[in-house]
Amino acid sequence: DQNRFLGKTVIVTGAGSGLGAAVFKRFLLEGANVVGLDLSAEPMERFRERNSVLSAQMTLKVADVSDPDAIAAVINESVEELGTLDVLVNNAGIAPTGPAATTSNELWRTVMKVNVDGLFYATRAALPHLIRSQGNIVNTASVSGIGADYSYAAYDASKGAVINFTRSVAVDYAQRGVRCNAVAPGPVLTPLLQKNLDTTAGLKEAFGRSIPLGRIAVPEEIAPAFTFLASADASYINGHILTADGGVTAW
Ligand code: NAD
Repeated sequence: DQNRFLGKTVIVTGAGSGLGAAVFKRFLLEGANVVGLDLSAEPMERFRERNSVLSAQMTLKVADVSDPDAIAAVINESVEELGTLDVLVNNAGIAPTGPAATTSNELWRTVMKVNVDGLFYATRAALPHLIRSQGNIVNTASVSGIGADYSYAAYDASKGAVINFTRSVAVDYAQRGVRCNAVAPGPVLTPLLQKNLDTTAGLKEAFGRSIPLGRIAVPEEIAPAFTFLASADASYINGHILTADGGVTAW
């Protein structure tokens, strides 16, 4: 729907790559003014050049979601510039691998800092604005937070936290008019996954075959799950974890 988000303001974290870039684009195509937020501006600037017809709707911001002061400042600044905040998409995330016994303190903390603390900081900063606009939040969870992926100990734990924090916000803020949901993607072909698949020859193909739909997703087929949850069509959907996983969690 080209007009579904006309006049609405959306913030997407991790908008410079992979799934975040596809979600960024999908909201733009559906009419929103979208703030793309990432660690560096350069990939988002390249995205803006490639999608110049949509550039009037784009605002680019640089911040580390795991820095509470920085993320709060950027969210407040965006609202000052654009007048409102209707949707927050907490998508920034990292996925270093390793089972529990060989996971270092540093790796564990880094994953928790970005995937869990960062999502909390952005949510806390956005909530007053979302209460004012009667807006909503869509988080990027993962099927790794429902079941567990082999050798992703810290990541699995972080995405489990994302799922229950989604429910917590949904329960606490519904009466103030703010919904909170999450998309739980299965494997999506993004730089994040590609890096992990590149470690073993043939892994990508074998991985694809292990999915009921027989292939790894492309980001563009996951993005509509985000715009749906954020839209008025989902007005009674709150605290839901929407899998978009080709059937991975169905067996
Ligand atoms: P990606 O690496 O392609 O993109 C992630 C983006 O987030 C990057 O642009 C990165 O710079 C940004 N980012 C990382 N740390 C940040 C920080 N501290 N502050 C601000 N931005 C930061 O990865 P992706 O695959 O597109 O992943 C996006 C989300 O989707 C993540 O939450 C990931 O866990 C989730 N996810 C991915 C898959 C998959 O198979 N690719 C599956 C399920 C869930």
